[in-house]
Formats: sequence, structure tokens, C-alpha cells
Amino acid sequence: MAADRMLALLPTAAILVDSDDGVRMANGAAVSMGIVKGQRLVVSELGELTRAARRTGESQTAEFAIDQGGFPRRVLTVGARAQPLDDGEVALVVDDLTESKRVDAVRRDFVANVGHEIKTPVGALTLLAEAALDAQDDPDAVHHFLSRMQREASRLSRLVQELLDLSRLQGGETPPADADVSVDAVIDEAVDRGRLVAEVKQIEIVRGGDTGCVVVGSENQLVTAVSNLLDNAVAYSPERTEVAVGVHHRGDMVEIAVKDQGVGIDAADHERIFERFYRVDPARSRDTGGTGLGLAIVKHIVSNHRGQITVWSQPGAGSTFTLRLPASPASSAGAGTDGVARTGASPA
Ligand code: ADP
Repeated sequence: MAADRMLALLPTAAILVDSDDGVRMANGAAVSMGIVKGQRLVVSELGELTRAARRTGESQTAEFAIDQGGFPRRVLTVGARAQPLDDGEVALVVDDLTESKRVDAVRRDFVANVGHEIKTPVGALTLLAEAALDAQDDPDAVHHFLSRMQREASRLSRLVQELLDLSRLQGGETPPADADVSVDAVIDEAVDRGRLVAEVKQIEIVRGGDTGCVVVGSENQLVTAVSNLLDNAVAYSPERTEVAVGVHHRGDMVEIAVKDQGVGIDAADHERIFERFYRVDPARSRDTGGTGLGLAIVKHIVSNHRGQITVWSQPGAGSTFTLRLPASPASSAGAGTDGVARTGASPA
């Protein structure tokens, strides 16, 4: 029957219950949600909802959790509606709300986090402005407070900029331009941007691997991604260490690896560091001017480019972040002249 075939296509579970609570008809979604087995409803809440609809003659709704067991344990949140029909029959529709609930929770957390992140520098600016006003007769103190205000203001502006970047990337408003992008040019630009901060810490940025690799996408976004990885490599490394950027053309992928000799990251944090605002050590991240958004931005850029990002890291042994991007047919990788090029400050 056409109606049955249509019901089978729906993501919503649709069930027809007879006057003895037997299941007369159930679509595929009802079976895969695990609420119907054979001719029976196996979730007690649904039985109660059905009987309430029959008793009152009115449609009934409820929201509840269904424990599907398994490992890892899977619990669905569902919204159900029971509509009484003729002769004691009841139509049940059940929607899986798990994903939309999860997205709601993430959104609520995100708004709370943004509020908190903005409150901190704004609070600091207020206090520093008061301190500067109180110290009007002491030019040195005024200078000190003003320069701290400048730091807080630039942190705030970076945070706002990164939030805007992230929302643009997530909204998919700007799919990466469909152009061939030279990986050499991306790395040139990213290294250039990171050079100043690296020089201050006497960190040398070393380049190596293949040259001439080409990927498809947006040069701007890819520079941002590599630049964020380089900024982190420098920020979480001690002075006078080395940061290496290596490019390798493997099969139909181009790999860009950023390797440091820094503090490293515990395995338990490897997945979480890509979440927005997650920091292993919030105090340290704030010292480095970090916003906690850098890797979330990298992750979005990479997925917009149909690529992957992976991390290898051990506390005390440094970290390697590797981007894998599909190579353009125009890519013609070859080893660099000497395989290694050096930029940045030479160790004193
Ligand atoms: P942040 O702005 O705090 O650096 P990121 O999203 O860029 O935010 O990184 C998230 C967290 O991951 C950092 O706070 C830091 O704890 C950790 N992290 C990122 N890159 C490195 C690295 N190269 N070495 C050690 N820890 C890192």
C-alpha cells in the first residue's frame, strides 16, 4: 500500500495500536527505536499514554527517555503523541529528540561560556580604568594601568573576532572558495604571521618536506588554520626550542604537520581540546592570550575542506598536529631543495 511505503520513509515512529494494546502496524522507525517488538509495545510509558488517550478520548503528549542499553549505553529522549481513533484504536507517533536536545544544550553552554569569557576582560577593564583614575598624580602607575588596559582590550577584540570567524565557518555561509591553493604559500604566510612572537621566545620555525603541493579550497581559511597551530606550538613551548612545519604528499592527500617540543597534552585531553573554550590549563592559556577557540576554528576549517586533523602528543614530549587535506589534481609535490628551510630567530 502506498501509505505503508510512505510511513516506512518517515524518521518518526508511527504505530497503530488496537483496543487490546496490540500493535496492528508499526513503521521501520518504530522498530529501530526499539519501542515495538513483534505485536507489542515494549516501553511502558507508551502503553500508559495509549491508555490515557483511549480513556479520555483526547490526544495525549509526553516526553521521556528510552534506555536502549548496549555499550556505550544509548539513551534516547523522545517526544510521543497518542491520538485516539475509532473503536479503541490509538495512533502513536514518536520523535527522537536526542540530537535536538543535545544541540540545545550545546547552544546554552556556548552562550554561557561566551558571556563568561567576555565578562572577564570587561571586568578587568573596568577595574583598571578605576585604578588609572585613582592614580592620576602618578604618571608611572597610570602608564602601567593603561598598558594593561590595552592588553585586555586586544584580548577582547581577538575573542570577538574569533567568535565571528567561528560562527561564519559553522554556518557554512562561506564554503571554501573552489580555487587551487599552494600549500607553500599558505605556510609562507602563516610562518610570517607567527615569526614575531616566535622571535621573542627565540623559537626557531623550521620547514621541511615536499614543496609544490596544491589543495583545493580557501587560502585565507587554510592560512588561519596553520597559523592557529603555529601560534599554539609557540605559545605552549619553552624558550629556545624548535617548531617544525612539514608537508608530505601521500597518495591523494596532502599532510601538513606542525610539531613542537613543548609541554605536550595528556591523552585524556586529546579530543576535548578541539571543543570551543576547552583549555587544559586555563591560567596558562590566559597568560598566552589564548581564547580557547583556536583549535575549534581549525577543526571547522579542516572539515569545510573535507580534511581531517589529528594530534599526537605526550606530556613533556611535545605535540604534533597534522592536517590532512585532499590534494588538487594540480599538485606536483617534490622534495624541497635541501628538505629543510629555516626561518625565525636563531638561538642566541
Ligand atoms: P587557546 O586559545 O587556549 O590556545 P586552543 O583551542 O588553540 O585554545 O587550544 C585549546 C587547548 O589545547 C589550549 O588551551 C592548550 O591547553 C591545548 N593546546 C593546544 N595546542 C597545544 C600545543 N601545541 N601544546 C600543548 N598544548 C596545546
